[in-house]
Amino acid sequence: MSKILVTGGSGLVGKWLKTFLPNALYLSSKDFDLTSQESVIQMYQKHTPDTVVHLAARVGGIVDNMQNPYDFFEENVMMNTLLVKYARMNNVKKFLGVLSTCIYPDIMDSYPLKEHCLHKGEPTKTNFSYGYAKRVMAVQIDACNEQYGTNYNYVIPCNLYGDGDKNDPSKSHFVTALITKIHEAVKNNQQEITLFGDGSPLRQFLHAEDFAFVINEIIKKNITSSFNVAAEEVYSIKQIAEIALKACDASHLKINFDKSKPNGQHRKDVCINKLKKAIPDFNPKSLYQGVKETYNNIKNE
Ligand code: NAP
Repeated sequence: MSKILVTGGSGLVGKWLKTFLPNALYLSSKDFDLTSQESVIQMYQKHTPDTVVHLAARVGGIVDNMQNPYDFFEENVMMNTLLVKYARMNNVKKFLGVLSTCIYPDIMDSYPLKEHCLHKGEPTKTNFSYGYAKRVMAVQIDACNEQYGTNYNYVIPCNLYGDGDKNDPSKSHFVTALITKIHEAVKNNQQEITLFGDGSPLRQFLHAEDFAFVINEIIKKNITSSFNVAAEEVYSIKQIAEIALKACDASHLKINFDKSKPNGQHRKDVCINKLKKAIPDFNPKSLYQGVKETYNNIKNE
């Protein structure tokens, strides 16, 4: 039987991946600090996986990224470099890296973004070093396949959400933070919520469960191509907030926009043709449905 090791197993995606791959080994930073070469060597020696799903990353929201650009760059470059290097040296058969659509060029001539556009411009300022760090893993995996004949691949997911995300509002992702904000406002009888920026940026969001489904299909069917993963729908932040208010039965709340705070990248919507070709069964839940489920779970915690 295949020995599957999942790094970042205690995070949002790891939590949902467990429902598809319950027998894989899920590790966190408490098991091995993947920025340390010694630790990565020990991890491969101890667990001898033949498949690695590399979820671990230094991940955070806009403010965290802007305040700690050096840490985001170094920790992600170190982890990714070591994970791919020692996967190859330990003859790991399958390695799946996880990038992010926020690593695409800040501005392109046409949308949705296709995979071949990855290196055609610099990432947006608000996650510049995280973006470059993640791009480096794409270069490393492609180069490893080219030079050493491995069949490693990577996916480029859009923003994710779902229960299991971090509780700290400065670190959790937009939709989960929004749901938490709505929950707090309802609980405390407030009449409004305030969001960063002017509400105009365009986004795709995917429930972490649907992303975990894609990872599972890649492992199960031994898919070796690399592609974007996102829901087809593209909404403005204002539309997302309105959908979320409806899904949480909180349409009475007024939405304020704090324009003194950054918007982040204006748009980064990606094309999912390659994904649909590789996984025709991909049929993610709607944003409304995903928010409703997440809200109910958060409310009942
Ligand atoms: P997450 O919830 O922030 O979890 C991060 C995971 O990485 C945790 O298990 C954490 O372990 C582990 N980790 C961090 N630093 C580590 C270190 N030095 N050594 C070992 N493990 C370390 O992340 P996620 O949201 O599940 O994201 C999974 C992957 O998807 C990441 O590669 C991320 O870049 C990518 N992605 C996420 C999103 C999103 O919206 N969430 C969007 C696009 C791409 P501890 O729990 O012990 O700290």
